[in-house]
Amino acid sequence: MNKKNKRLLFAAVVISIIAYRFFSPSVSSSLNVENKIRGLELKLDSLYHEIEQVEEEISLLHRQRRGSIQAGQGMFQVLDDMGIPNAMSLKIVNALRDTVELLNFRVGEEFNVLMDPDDSTRVEQFSYSPNPAVVHQLIDDGGGELLYTRIDHPTTIHYRLYEDTLTQGSSLDQALRFMGIPSTMIGVVNGVLLCKIPFRTHARAGDRFRILLKEEFFEDSIRIDGKVLYAYYSGVRTGTHEAFRYEDFDPKSTYTAHYTEDGEALIYSGLRYPLDRLHISSPYGMRRHPITGQRTMHWGVDYRAPTGTPIYAVAEGVVVKSTYDNVNGHYVAVRHSDNYTSYYLHMHRRSVRRGQRVNSRQVIGSVGSTGRSTGPHLHFGFKRPNGRWMDPLQKRMIATPKLEGDKLARFLEQVAQTRGILDSLMSSDAPEIIAMDNN
Ligand SMILES: [Zn+2]
Repeated sequence: MNKKNKRLLFAAVVISIIAYRFFSPSVSSSLNVENKIRGLELKLDSLYHEIEQVEEEISLLHRQRRGSIQAGQGMFQVLDDMGIPNAMSLKIVNALRDTVELLNFRVGEEFNVLMDPDDSTRVEQFSYSPNPAVVHQLIDDGGGELLYTRIDHPTTIHYRLYEDTLTQGSSLDQALRFMGIPSTMIGVVNGVLLCKIPFRTHARAGDRFRILLKEEFFEDSIRIDGKVLYAYYSGVRTGTHEAFRYEDFDPKSTYTAHYTEDGEALIYSGLRYPLDRLHISSPYGMRRHPITGQRTMHWGVDYRAPTGTPIYAVAEGVVVKSTYDNVNGHYVAVRHSDNYTSYYLHMHRRSVRRGQRVNSRQVIGSVGSTGRSTGPHLHFGFKRPNGRWMDPLQKRMIATPKLEGDKLARFLEQVAQTRGILDSLMSSDAPEIIAMDNN
């Protein structure tokens, strides 16, 4: 029933009520009936009110759109899937560009949009939450201009110290795992200390370690961020080593990392392997091509692995290619800080986009057999800065920076702060210090 019909029905009911009252035969029964009618009128009123509310909710539902990032997708594709016109998407991207890291969306992150009620191509409101404590919001100012606001919900910072001694047969890795430290942070501790300590040969029972974590919580239980502020390791054979986290002025800087107290970078610069298990099925060099049968140069190393096996970036860098062609299939290329580029071919799936920054050991895709390939394997290649291929197994270190000038001064301030937190934690029985977020 539409609104007009409802109004007509209402009018008809009211008229018949009046008519009934006018012609009613006796006063007492007419009083009774009058009360009943008043009751009915009230009910009818509240029903109309309810209908109007539901109608509003329905129209809101029609205006609301929600989209989430799928593997290998960028923001544009998600907005497109949500039915947002390209020109509008471009406006949204431009309005967010300065404040949101547009290439680092994670799978599952959501965009919420409210369309203009009178124009289904216009976005009235847009919001994106990288975590429960932060909302990036765009609102149409009424003239088609999208205004940006960032909403920060309060969080708490927890500084927690973990320290212990290695027991016979245990490793630092196992000890940290046993203490319940998240595995990504264990990876950071290992990477940092490995720059100074050959654990495999030099670690001994009785070695001491100390790790200071800074974790951020929303509503005291939802962990939204965690950092390793400090790591200490001391052993008979290893000597004593300390690592401090430096946070640069620029939140996107690659200088944000761990350093010795003198500002020497502790970025583990050895290359990691692209797969967890390595079976070389074809090395770099001349070979008979498996498909064409001709003797050709093989410009990389083939690793045999089942379809779907995760492939990792061998070092930190920027994705310069994430695409498909008939020969290489789905492939990804990552340029590293020394301008060498690693290539990963014949992927089943790609999970990074061009322009995206990746960490060492970050999953960038999975093993497949796309393009010119006889079976599931990873072809791994390495290109020099001059564009020539090299044997990936000959590739060694990647240059690391040292802090100087302003950066060094800022770092030393941060070292002093970290030492302050360490001292107060070590001189008290409390396992952690909790502070309100000071951002
Ligand atoms: Zn190959």
